[in-house]
Amino acid sequence: MATIHELTSKIVKFRDERDWNKYHTPRNLAISLVVELGELLEHFQWKNDDEILKLAQKPDKREKIEEELADVAIYLFLLANELSIDLETAILNKIKKNEEKYPVDLVKGKYVKYTELRRK
Ligand SMILES: [Mg+2]
Repeated sequence: MATIHELTSKIVKFRDERDWNKYHTPRNLAISLVVELGELLEHFQWKNDDEILKLAQKPDKREKIEEELADVAIYLFLLANELSIDLETAILNKIKKNEEKYPVDLVKGKYVKYTELRRK
């Protein structure tokens, strides 16, 4: 399994070989990320969760959903790269913060916004 760093290097290589880096400003990458997310959501539009789960099991639809998810990830990795953000570290740091914000003993099985959490 490739790491985010390895995947990003591969994506950047693909991009740079085609001289597309001139188009990859942070703004354009952020817009492209949202556009691709929209393309993913098109598959889910007007369906409930059960229908979406069934859809994702149909090979032809699953392939389309996989492609849109990959597009989202590719633009996310490119955006992080362009901003010189180490996405692996950023994700690990965010998980740690979320663990501190949402202690298991206070939130297990329920959603409460962290600002409303109180220890008794
Ligand atoms: Mg797409």
